[in-house]
Amino acid sequence: MLVNLISDTVTKPTSEMLEAMFMADVGDDVFKEDPSVNYLENQVAVLFGKEAALFFPSGTMTNQTAIKIHTQQGDQLICDRYAHVYNYEGGGVSFNSGVSCKLIKGHRGKITAKQINACINPPDFYHSPRTKLVCLENTTNKGGGAIYDTKEINKIRKLCDQEGLALHLDGARLWNALEVTGEDPKVYGSLFDTISLCFSKGLGCPVGSVLVGSVDNIKKALRIRKVFGGGMRQAGYLAAAGSYALKFHRKTLNEDHRRAKEISDLLNNLDFVHEVQPVETNIIIFSLKSDLNESDFVNQLSKKQILIMGLGKGKLRIVTHRNYTEEHHEYVLTTLSKMKVYA
Ligand SMILES: *Cc1c(COP(=O)(O)O)cnc(C)c1O
Repeated sequence: MLVNLISDTVTKPTSEMLEAMFMADVGDDVFKEDPSVNYLENQVAVLFGKEAALFFPSGTMTNQTAIKIHTQQGDQLICDRYAHVYNYEGGGVSFNSGVSCKLIKGHRGKITAKQINACINPPDFYHSPRTKLVCLENTTNKGGGAIYDTKEINKIRKLCDQEGLALHLDGARLWNALEVTGEDPKVYGSLFDTISLCFSKGLGCPVGSVLVGSVDNIKKALRIRKVFGGGMRQAGYLAAAGSYALKFHRKTLNEDHRRAKEISDLLNNLDFVHEVQPVETNIIIFSLKSDLNESDFVNQLSKKQILIMGLGKGKLRIVTHRNYTEEHHEYVLTTLSKMKVYA
């Protein structure tokens, strides 16, 4: 038994999902003639109360397209220093859009309206880059699955309106946040110009991401997606997995969250653990006592067939997901509680 807790991206489709993919009605999506892609796009647009949506092969391409829509070369975007768009998209912000990032030292990957306000360059001051876009992430990835308070996002929206800035949400794991808060996705739709959503993480699809926005922005996105090489033909086989996941997999995210909480409760009681960050969704970030080596710990666990990720600087990450079963969970809890870790 191999237990992979590296990421929720390791999830594989169930046989029922594969069946739904196999049965999909498809066409050429580059001509917008794939009924299953059109169906998913419409479904997600309606869910978020947005005018339109577009299906993409990856969350990275969805975010990069949104950044391209909202900016011109030389502009600047504002985001948290941990942001995925800044750290984990291969420098795409500059490569694709010629844009720089103003980084904010937020709390667990979350930034406030006040912090953003202090980072906006005066539009007439031509010496500094023009601030054009704010990117938030919910839940935060490197911030340990933390959830934004929509009250703060409301303030950020108001600020963006005042200052003429666009607001994009990297909602790769927004599904997890919505599962916890029980908020209507339309609340998010009303606050952001564009939102990217991933289907290949907690929702358990093999591939897929969707961007929602206005008709105008999605028209621009269609052209940019083409330029990025993301126009796919019979993509309905993939989109069908997304529609299947919206129907059957959103509900079970709470299981991932419960198991993550139980792992963090246990870690909090282990003598080799220094600190566990508060767990809000399916990501657990923790650190070992300072004299213990992080990669030794990862190796020790992998010998017991449990894979977790080292984040450097003594930090470690565990991510629960739908392929992490109750049987796996019991094995992980028992293994961790019996572990002896020496300096
Ligand atoms: C996973 C992820 C993405 C998209 O990544 P892909 O690997 O391109 O699908 C974007 N933002 C965040 C916060 C993520 O965790």
